[in-house]
Amino acid sequence: MPETQDQQKFVYDFTEGNKDLKDLLGGKGANLAEMTNLGLPVPPGFTITTEACKVYLDSGEEPSALRDEVSAHLEALEEKMGKKLGQADDPLLVSVRSGAKFSMPGMMDTVLNIGLSDQSVAGLAAQAGDDRFAWDSYRRLIQMFGKTVLGVDGDHFEEAIEDAKRAKGVTVDVDLDAADLKKLVGEFKNIVAKETGRGFPQEPREQMDLAVRAVFDSWNGDRAKLYRRQERIPHDLGTAVNICSMVFGNLGPDSGTGVAFTRDPASGHQGVYGDYLQNAQGEDVVAGIRNTVPLADLERIDQRSYEQLMQIMETLETHYKDLCDIEFTIERGKLWMLQTRVGKRTAGAAFRIATQLVDQGLIDEAEALRRVNGAQLAQLMFPRFDHEVASGDTVRKIGRGIAASPGAAVGKAVFDSYTAVKWSRSGEKVILIRRETNPDDLDGMIAAEGILTSRGGKTSHAAVVARGMGKTCVCGAEELEVDTKRRRMTVPDRDGKDGLVIEEGDVVSIDGSSGKVYLGEVPVVPSPVVEYFEGRMHAGADDADELVGAVHRIMAYADRVRRLRVRANADNAEDAARARRFGAQGIGLCRTEHMFLGERREKVERLILAHTEEERDTALGELLPLQKDDFVELFEAMDGLPVTVRLLDPPLHEFLPDITELSVRVALAESRKDHNENDLRLLQAVHRLHEQNPMLGLRGVRLGLVIPGLFAMQVRAIAEAAADRRNAKADPRAEIMIPLVGTVQELEIVREEAERVIAEVERARGVDLKLTLGTMIELPRAALTAAQIAESADFFSFGTNDLTQTVWGFSRDDVEASFFTAYLEKGIFGVSPFETIDKDGVGALVRDAAHAGRATRPDLKLGICGEHGGDPESVHFFHEVGLDYVSCSPFRIPVARLEAGRAAANSR
Ligand code: ADP
Ligand code: MG
Ligand code: MG
Repeated sequence: MPETQDQQKFVYDFTEGNKDLKDLLGGKGANLAEMTNLGLPVPPGFTITTEACKVYLDSGEEPSALRDEVSAHLEALEEKMGKKLGQADDPLLVSVRSGAKFSMPGMMDTVLNIGLSDQSVAGLAAQAGDDRFAWDSYRRLIQMFGKTVLGVDGDHFEEAIEDAKRAKGVTVDVDLDAADLKKLVGEFKNIVAKETGRGFPQEPREQMDLAVRAVFDSWNGDRAKLYRRQERIPHDLGTAVNICSMVFGNLGPDSGTGVAFTRDPASGHQGVYGDYLQNAQGEDVVAGIRNTVPLADLERIDQRSYEQLMQIMETLETHYKDLCDIEFTIERGKLWMLQTRVGKRTAGAAFRIATQLVDQGLIDEAEALRRVNGAQLAQLMFPRFDHEVASGDTVRKIGRGIAASPGAAVGKAVFDSYTAVKWSRSGEKVILIRRETNPDDLDGMIAAEGILTSRGGKTSHAAVVARGMGKTCVCGAEELEVDTKRRRMTVPDRDGKDGLVIEEGDVVSIDGSSGKVYLGEVPVVPSPVVEYFEGRMHAGADDADELVGAVHRIMAYADRVRRLRVRANADNAEDAARARRFGAQGIGLCRTEHMFLGERREKVERLILAHTEEERDTALGELLPLQKDDFVELFEAMDGLPVTVRLLDPPLHEFLPDITELSVRVALAESRKDHNENDLRLLQAVHRLHEQNPMLGLRGVRLGLVIPGLFAMQVRAIAEAAADRRNAKADPRAEIMIPLVGTVQELEIVREEAERVIAEVERARGVDLKLTLGTMIELPRAALTAAQIAESADFFSFGTNDLTQTVWGFSRDDVEASFFTAYLEKGIFGVSPFETIDKDGVGALVRDAAHAGRATRPDLKLGICGEHGGDPESVHFFHEVGLDYVSCSPFRIPVARLEAGRAAANSR
């Protein structure tokens, strides 16, 4: 039974929570509680739950019980601290801090020093024996409260501070004394009164309640909403609010505030990483108001606190078993912990830290696998920009947008699709720069090295399409003003005037992994991780500090535990060899259509045009040895491992000339009375074979059934190639795969013919080829009748690209660039179903077909060869539904291996 509002507990003391209550207490609150319970010095306080926020967001009012609950907790806090909130002679002050489950830009900033008023400021001064401190704290309160709770433009306050400094002839805030600050408080109060039409609230509890409500409201601020949409964070989580008693880093040189990491978030190395600022409060450290000192200097400034801090960092690392980042404050030589969380890190550090923690005995190998992911590995496999040059003087950083599709791209700036295509045809590398892209830009996007836009987020057209194409993209680089009409963009100066102008043809470099944009050419360095997978770099298992060593070890863990095998989609010996170096355990999809292109196209034309059996047999006879040679090479590259060869799949028009071009050619020849018999016949054939919806037309097994001898020729080429390899004492393991089967009858007919051909070859060559024959499951009907189809198939390979198209009823070529952006924005999909398998629809068919097939034939081998085979989330799904292998493009094999390992580690 769900709890009703009045039974619910809306407020938790820091002593009552723990780190696993993030849903309820938010990340900050849960970790403050965890630290409190670890006995670390956390200023006492309490957390208002996300549930209270949800009630407020739903109904527009705080839950009725909240006020009393807050009062009870506040009283307990006052008791503990021995003073009352805002008490005139000795005020208890608190901070009001937002804290959702995930940290989010756009949420309300923390308000410090709540409880100060015209009265209690004197009490604070007397207690601390420091006037300056008290007035500094009060002016901070009015400033933060004014800005974040009352919505006053922060510039008003900043200007007043600047004026005060200028009047006094000083440059830093610490040089303002008590009298200056007192005067500033007066000015700040005037600003509030003028901007809001009411005075700064003097009643402490009112200050607190207003701040809490402002935190709740900030959940639905525009920036927070946009961020949640981009990051796919649900909108109904709500935020918690933490009320934390104040400690003061601005009480003089023996006080200060800092941030630290338990290890370097960039390299993962252990050491002392952080910044410290004396005589400062809260955000001063990161705000760049004064220069901070490296954390190591704290040892000299305050050795006792430093040592205690080092000890606490070790406690936290051992407790969280991970890198943590922390915020702390020192008040007159006493250390206080104000925040911790498992820290963000770079992809490289994630791998290093995971292996370091294994070595320290803090986590096991399965946990190490959970600490990294395929997206991070993929990121490490992209070439990167040379950091030295990128931060030097030869190039200039001109902006930063959203890292929408990773990689590093360099090229000449072009501002329209037409120029992109034209220039790239003449061999130039170009970067297509647009305000935002739309379906008309598709050709330009294909032609460009990378795409840069000044508008739009992770689900914008540019981002979605670029990711689909695997092309580098930075989008939403807002500081760049793109003027497509004048073919240029400008980077305004700080003061908003026209600054730098970048014209068409200027070289720009974009980093799709960081979102950074440069003017000039930044050299690209190859990924060391790829060098390692390629076998050009070796890694010992003992050098965990080195990135490649860490990747090597994590891959070994993954390979040890994974159940899914990983194969490659590869059509030629070169790709097959690379795939093997990357760890492929066979080929899951060899497309034979590529063997029909180039100079062989003409032979295919002859096959299609054949009038007589004789003509046809001649054409097939010419193709046979060519196909056979292709297979020999492929079997050689994958010796000892399975190679699934798919018989011809695409519609025939793909091998024939373009209908318009050919029509024009024939018409011109006619007008010159210059008949070309062959072209005429070709045109007839093209007309005959022209289809409205070729992807749903004459293709796949249908081709094999209507073009006599085609599949037989392909099967013979496979069988003879395998026989050659056998005779050479090698170990070819071919599997013949029939595409686009919808019903078992189709498969039966093809199978009978194939078996006849194979038997002939075996007899003639005196070998047992052990070829198997299976089918793709890529039509809904095939999935639905899998039990029957399994009677004639040794294996199923799920063709999830076509299956996604046919289950959803849309054609990938047509829809991705047109309406997917709208669908993503409206939240109809979280990601494109071509990127990550649609578990509920397409995935359900896969699961059911796998079970039905196995029910018919328990030893049925099951694989998947759509692009989902290299997608992390999809790999987990295929593991769960019990497939035997995934097959993906060679470059994605390491990611698939890793994710297969992670899936196995998770399900243990
Ligand atoms: P954020 O989520 O932006 O880090 P925080 O709530 O952590 O916001 O607070 C902003 C700054 O104020 C941090 O530097 C934090 O350490 C400091 N701060 C927050 N609460 C207190 C407090 N009770 N006493 C002293 N400093 C505080
Ligand atoms: Mg913080
Ligand atoms: Mg297909």
